[in-house]
Amino acid sequence: MKRIFSTVLILSILIALLSGCGRKEKKGEHGGTIVKAAGYSFEPVFSNFGVEIYVSRGSKPVPIEGVVGSATVEQEGKPPRWADLRAEVERLLVPYAFPTIAGYSANVRFNIKGLEEDREKTVEFAAPFRMTVLYGYSCPKHPEITTLRRGKCVKCGGADKVETKVRFQCSVHDDVWSMTYGECEQCGTTLVLRPVPEP
Ligand SMILES: [Zn+2]
Ligand SMILES: [Zn+2]
Repeated sequence: MKRIFSTVLILSILIALLSGCGRKEKKGEHGGTIVKAAGYSFEPVFSNFGVEIYVSRGSKPVPIEGVVGSATVEQEGKPPRWADLRAEVERLLVPYAFPTIAGYSANVRFNIKGLEEDREKTVEFAAPFRMTVLYGYSCPKHPEITTLRRGKCVKCGGADKVETKVRFQCSVHDDVWSMTYGECEQCGTTLVLRPVPEP
């Protein structure tokens, strides 16, 4: 009897470990990866403006007035970079730190303070860095005139481009796009910057 118990125990531990390895990351409603820590769910959304963090408890969003924190970007083989983080500000940011991360892969460690529960005033968690929102500038009349920098549309005789969400898009395949520079996996064409279509 004892033997069966221990076999079952070992098996269930193995299954738990194995399923943990192949675990799919949970996507949040803002496109970021959901990380659970201390009873809260955190969804960091990385953009070229920095990071916004959406905090919820159960299915309820947590007001983040007074919530502050810091973030450390850990990139393999490189010294960690520190950045201050003030999560109450929309598009709060770790300014300019993220676009410079080589290959757009890193782990970001967060230390968040000021949450509502006394015993959980400080929460630490780590999230993979993955660019989820890219902002650029585009001409409303000429979507082919889209850049990451502010500027004027060359086809409109000097009209300013407007800030908008952008992505790198295959000019042949509508369904192929990326948050980083690259080539289309289907035709090899270099992806071009375009506004994200309205849903
Ligand atoms: Zn234009
Ligand atoms: Zn293509």
